[in-house]
Amino acid sequence: MTDWKSLAAELYDGSFRPMFVDGAWCEARSGKVMDARNPADGSLLATVPQGDAADIDAAVAAARKAFEGPWSKFTPFERQALLLRIADGFEAAWERLCLSDTLDMGMPIQRTLANSRRVLGMLRFYAGQAVSIHGQTIPNSFPGEIYSQTVREPVGVVGAIIPWNAPIAGSVWKIAPALATGCTVVLKPSEEASLTVLMIARIMQEVGLPDGVLNIVTGLGSEAGAALAAHPGVDKIVFTGSTATGQAIARAATGNLKRVSLELGGKSPVIVCRDADIDKAVPVAAMAVFANSGQICIAGSRLFVAREIHDEFVRRVADFAAKLRIGHGIDEGTDVGPIISARQADRIAGYLAAGPNEGAEVLTGGSRAEGAAFAGGNFIQPTVFGGVTDGMTIAREEIFGPVISALPFDTLDEVVERANATSYGLAAGVFSTHLGTAHKLAHRIKAGSVWVNMYHAIDPAVPFGGVKMSGYGREGGTEHLDEYLDTKAIWINTD
Ligand code: NAD
Repeated sequence: MTDWKSLAAELYDGSFRPMFVDGAWCEARSGKVMDARNPADGSLLATVPQGDAADIDAAVAAARKAFEGPWSKFTPFERQALLLRIADGFEAAWERLCLSDTLDMGMPIQRTLANSRRVLGMLRFYAGQAVSIHGQTIPNSFPGEIYSQTVREPVGVVGAIIPWNAPIAGSVWKIAPALATGCTVVLKPSEEASLTVLMIARIMQEVGLPDGVLNIVTGLGSEAGAALAAHPGVDKIVFTGSTATGQAIARAATGNLKRVSLELGGKSPVIVCRDADIDKAVPVAAMAVFANSGQICIAGSRLFVAREIHDEFVRRVADFAAKLRIGHGIDEGTDVGPIISARQADRIAGYLAAGPNEGAEVLTGGSRAEGAAFAGGNFIQPTVFGGVTDGMTIAREEIFGPVISALPFDTLDEVVERANATSYGLAAGVFSTHLGTAHKLAHRIKAGSVWVNMYHAIDPAVPFGGVKMSGYGREGGTEHLDEYLDTKAIWINTD
């Protein structure tokens, strides 16, 4: 069994961790640094550069040089081999990578470890795709011997901006398709969780990633992030984060009309029909929110339950929530880890107050987790609100914390209308043992993913993304490649 505490002490000791530009490990040009703190106890893990526009300029220049230079000479088979070596390198370092995420952003270690299918699978899936990218020869209406064909070309320099809630998966889901298609990348991790992304870059360098193909600039969203989104040398931005930031990025991207794809927030409905298998649905519906302390974009935070079973079902979800163990992510028994920052915990506490103020009833939780075990950290109790109505703030806004709003419903038509009455459209869950009901709901709910009798399934081979204010573009699957490719038509007159 891994001794996580000893490994943690070995991993981070408060020292400076440089960022990665053009194959070199460097400080910010300004010399500024930011603290990386453990959200479970506030301890200093490391300091990282606070990069800004000047560092973004250097990283974009390096990415352009690599894109037009050595990287363009790599054959698809060489890119495939590199992606497979990266996957092997990650696998060998997997426990350390996961521990780093757990220390830096709080996700319980069992959960970071379990993400391997998504992360290693993503690298290996796109390694396979690297050698399958091709154009077509297309018949045309011209007389004579005129041939038309298409070729698929990489868009160029990709700017990737990610949030803090899943740094390994968040970065790999953007880097793997970029490398498969022949793009180069400048990645700006979240200022709240940069450490594992730097570790990932080191592994990539060790297995032969050419200089400049991946550049990591750590820094603030308002400085490094905004500079990357607006940069005229960037051809495409892939962003995951909040809807408000996504809108700012889309606006900033208009300067050079760079392409943009956005994976944004959500207020996902989970619909439990009266014929649901209650025993199986209770833990899944609960963990649809409480996994990662609710800090997941797909959190199924609006729990619609058929009136006939509502009270029993919601009571059981509340009982389940009350038994979850809150604690430090490196304790293997922890179910619910800390919230990323005091600022974010304060935001969630605001919603915990708004619920009862607007007439909701606290069925379990409802406050911060207090006591010596939580000193210095940001912990919120898993919370279930009953007596919620659709207009309440807790039922409308993304909380990004461990909070469920339970809402009864009477008919399927009604619940579809209410579930869709949100500006978001990221994900949804349906629990029913009746095939027709499940099918009808899955088709009528406006969301990028709908899970039936399950939740949280995200796979490298299956497209994931949102509709409405949850964004546009897809990650995963072969569609994802289109985000990183341009199609060129070539006409040849052989007469
Ligand atoms: P955020 O939008 O505050 O920050 C995300 C990233 O954008 C960070 O790296 C940040 O530094 C950067 N940023 C901030 N302002 C910027 C600007 N003006 N220009 C460019 N970059 C800027 O989001 P967060 O608080 O880190 O993450 C939580 C949000 O992310 C939630 O809304 C959640 O739903 C969403 N999210 C969505 C998905 C998805 O796949 N749809 C996945 C995870 C998280």
